[in-house]
Amino acid sequence: MKNIKTNLKNNNTMKYKVNDSCIGCGLCESTCPEVFHMNGDVAVAIEGEVPESALAAAAEAKEGCPVGAIEEA
Ligand code: SF4
Repeated sequence: MKNIKTNLKNNNTMKYKVNDSCIGCGLCESTCPEVFHMNGDVAVAIEGEVPESALAAAAEAKEGCPVGAIEEA
């Protein structure tokens, strides 16, 4: 199992985190609700790796954040 995970990591897995710059606009949740959720006044990303089906939308959310608050984790 460990080897399988390592191999996946070397391919196209991705994690994101939201930093303190978030202004709570909600755009990332609208763009990629599989990964980003509003939690009070700010957005949070899921803890685990982004599902392959959501990779493109999550990348779009990162690009679209007006304050650059979404980082690769
Ligand atoms: S798009 Fe950026 S500023 Fe807006 S809620 Fe998401 S992380 Fe926060």
